[in-house]
Amino acid sequence: MAIRRILRIDDAEDRKILKMQCRPVKLPDRNLKQLVADMFETMHAANGVGLAAPQVGIPIQLCIIEIPAEYEERPDGSLVEVAPAEPYVLINPRIVKMSGEEVMRDEGCLSLPGWYGMVPRQTWVTVEFQDLSGKHHRLRRADGLLGWAIQHEVDHLNGILFTERIRDLSTLRDITKEREPQPAEAQG
Ligand code: ZN
Repeated sequence: MAIRRILRIDDAEDRKILKMQCRPVKLPDRNLKQLVADMFETMHAANGVGLAAPQVGIPIQLCIIEIPAEYEERPDGSLVEVAPAEPYVLINPRIVKMSGEEVMRDEGCLSLPGWYGMVPRQTWVTVEFQDLSGKHHRLRRADGLLGWAIQHEVDHLNGILFTERIRDLSTLRDITKEREPQPAEAQG
């Protein structure tokens, strides 16, 4: 496995790739397993919850998401895992249904580290996608962090950046200037 370089929104050459409409993936593709493994390693190293292939310079319809494990504190102060991490590999994903109801989220992106802004998102989405073997899946009414991450990553595959979704640009700010970044904050 290898950590790959994450392209940046604020770099002119990188931005050209990030703005591309990504091409569909023909499955099965034996080369994709290595790319997916590298993307998980890259996302973990950057403390993200999602990463799209164009963010590592490959404009294809593939993204990954990992909802972090949940922990509870025991009376003795030790932590116990109450829900495991949930990894997803979404190939050729398509949002087929949306709640029609918006929620504003403070959102960040691994292609603009440290920067957050208020982005309107659907409260839930239903997404169809393929896995690495080419099998078709439907994930119904994904909400919360997962629902948000799906919308952010599918946007990447269509060349749409979170900064373009922000309605009030005064909400966009560099939080590393305010305080230490929190690892649990959502960056995709
Ligand atoms: Zn992003």
